[in-house]
Amino acid sequence: MKDLHRTWLTIDTDDLRHVPSNQGHPTRSNPNNKLPDISERFRAGIKGLRKWLDNHDLSVTLFVIADQCDSEEFVQMIAGLCSNFGERITIGCHGLHHRSWSAWPEDSEGFSEDLSASVSILERHFPAHFRRWFRAPAGYMASWMIPVLLEQNFIVDTSINPSWLVNRKYAKGESWKTVHSNVMKTPLIERPWKTRFTLPTCGPAQHIPGLRWNARRAWRTLAKPLQSNEIELIENPEVRLDTVYWHILDHARKNGSWVPPLKVQ
Ligand SMILES: [Zn+2]
Repeated sequence: MKDLHRTWLTIDTDDLRHVPSNQGHPTRSNPNNKLPDISERFRAGIKGLRKWLDNHDLSVTLFVIADQCDSEEFVQMIAGLCSNFGERITIGCHGLHHRSWSAWPEDSEGFSEDLSASVSILERHFPAHFRRWFRAPAGYMASWMIPVLLEQNFIVDTSINPSWLVNRKYAKGESWKTVHSNVMKTPLIERPWKTRFTLPTCGPAQHIPGLRWNARRAWRTLAKPLQSNEIELIENPEVRLDTVYWHILDHARKNGSWVPPLKVQ
């Protein structure tokens, strides 16, 4: 077990209305209430994702924002992926409304309610695929969120971007390092995101000029992705995992032909 090294492929389901520039963030949000429940770009992203999944046998975890399930169409889309691709699809929690909890003052009670509502929604819609795995909206978590995740029986967290570049996001006295060392003192299993030369490689880093060259290089040389019969290794702290993530919306890029720059093995 100790020598096993794998890559965990994860995809966040954020739609246009969820991005922090639109909602959920104390200083960055400028809400546009006219954004639809499901955008055309999201529909195109799902189509692109299906096409990509048809071309290989890799497993992916979708981090779903629970309030997306208010839409019957969204539930059908995700349930469709689950029935089509079976055990290759697992589902984690990306919050109830994508509120950037870590950017707001500590609110354990509110976060706890958010998690328990999310779990019951995701469990109800996707009982065979849901796992108690968490990714914080806005890409980072605060230390006060750790005991709440444990209390709500979460097993894995994947919210840490171990790069100096993101430390300015954190509250005073905190950094990705303090949060990481606080998680390591608990039974919560942390799966930080892949970096290269201490720079981010996930999510927006794949597209930002100045970061994308390094980010794409990193993804071309990843360890073998987890196979569908290896999914339980995510919960095994002895297994070394590189975690990468992108968004369903990315699959709408390049007229629906964008694919993550992975060496499909
Ligand atoms: Zn998100």
